[in-house]
Amino acid sequence: MNRQTLYYNGAWQDAHSTEYEEVINPTTEEVIGEVVTADQEDVNKAVASAKAAFDSWNTLEPKKRAEYVENILKGITARKDELVDVMIKELGTSRQFAESTQVTVSEKEMKATLEEIETFSFEDEVDNATVIKEGYGVVACITPWNYPLNQIQRKITPALLAGNTVVVKPAELTPMTAILLAEIVDEAGLPDGVFNLITGTGSETGDYLTSHEDVSAISFTGSTDVGKSLYEKAKTTVKQIVLELGGKSPMIYLDGGDLELAVKNSANTLLHNQGQTCSALSRLFVPKDELERTKEVIKDYYKDIKVGDPNEEDTMVGPIVSKDQMETVLNYIEKGKEEGAEILVGGNKMDRKGYFVEPTVFVNVTNDMTIAQEEIFGPVLVVLTYDSVEEAIELANDSIYGLSGGVVGPEDEAIKVARRLKTGNITINEGARTPKAPFGGYKQSGLGRENGLYGVEDYLEVKAIFK
Ligand code: NAD
Repeated sequence: MNRQTLYYNGAWQDAHSTEYEEVINPTTEEVIGEVVTADQEDVNKAVASAKAAFDSWNTLEPKKRAEYVENILKGITARKDELVDVMIKELGTSRQFAESTQVTVSEKEMKATLEEIETFSFEDEVDNATVIKEGYGVVACITPWNYPLNQIQRKITPALLAGNTVVVKPAELTPMTAILLAEIVDEAGLPDGVFNLITGTGSETGDYLTSHEDVSAISFTGSTDVGKSLYEKAKTTVKQIVLELGGKSPMIYLDGGDLELAVKNSANTLLHNQGQTCSALSRLFVPKDELERTKEVIKDYYKDIKVGDPNEEDTMVGPIVSKDQMETVLNYIEKGKEEGAEILVGGNKMDRKGYFVEPTVFVNVTNDMTIAQEEIFGPVLVVLTYDSVEEAIELANDSIYGLSGGVVGPEDEAIKVARRLKTGNITINEGARTPKAPFGGYKQSGLGRENGLYGVEDYLEVKAIFK
């Protein structure tokens, strides 16, 4: 096994640290690899590499930077099959989802940002001022395990295009996808030090990296609790900070809409990737007098869902990423039962090897219950009822989060409801997200936006020169 899992100064490096973490396949519970837990000396070297590379990268013509990023995109496309395989192994995401979404979305989003940057002006004239937009310096990119390729892509694409250099610290549960991406970046021929990767835990490696005085910006995707703690670190040297955090997003079904569509749109976000999606539409709101029909539609939809080995073509739901995360999900299911919600579908750990939890749906849920307020990050849908559309909006907004949302109903009315939801992204009926539009959260779901030019702007310092 290759024990070099740190990449800086344009090459794979031996670690100073002698500590390693195992990577586990959640389907088989077997150890499939190990990566070094980078220590302070390792982090210092990676940051120094990024710092040394910054000036020349930042002053390189934006078009040239875009060419390098385009090479990374080509590499992702060329090594798509390997990326799919490694994500199935370390994350347990299904083959169909890895192929249709995990890799493809990265390709689409990179392509969209590259298209947008072609016409973006890094210099503007305002009266007698020349306004220059440039990189901050070294960006620490800290990413979670649920979309192990795309969470990194969403940071490095805009950060690099804006002129920054990066040090990526991927989630400890899914580092192998990140290592494969680093190989792709290496092949893309970027100048040494522009892209750097260090593996390790959040509490050690991530903590030290985000506190580093030579890091100018922190870009973090992960839990709201860790996101809040990063404010403290950002303040020490007044670092720029971008936060993509948790969610508990609503799907509102309006009378006169397509109930099957509302159930499908909501359920799919909790079935694909085992519901480990920040923007999952995990709270389904229906009019009280539609509850019985909703239950039938849900039971009908869930009866054909295949849960099992993520490698098999027809599997929709694989295992939860880790034993700890599986226990968290099962504890939430118990909590739901204790608080008086009723299981409509599933509700148990599956009797087989691997970290499998049955896709679960709760009814008789009220908005004050833990399962309606906290992010479960597993295949658990809660169904709530409302008496009036006003009440539906109020309940949907009664959350500390505001990442995503959906409304299914007559289009004009659905848009009126969407305008009143305090959330960063809303899908109406069959509306699909375009990668040029911003993605990000209101309230405790985050700070800043990803994708397209909205994403690039978070990585730009602005300077005015008066003549
Ligand atoms: P997490 O917060 O535990 O970890 C995320 C990353 O932060 C990991 O790389 C981890 O090692 C690192 N980390 C942990 N503690 C740290 C510290 N003290 N200092 C620096 N780094 C630290 O989250 P997770 O369990 O990996 O991911 C799940 C969470 O991510 C969910 O809440 C989910 O909603 C959120 N998420 C949000 C988005 C979004 O775009 N808004 C996308 C995906 C996931």
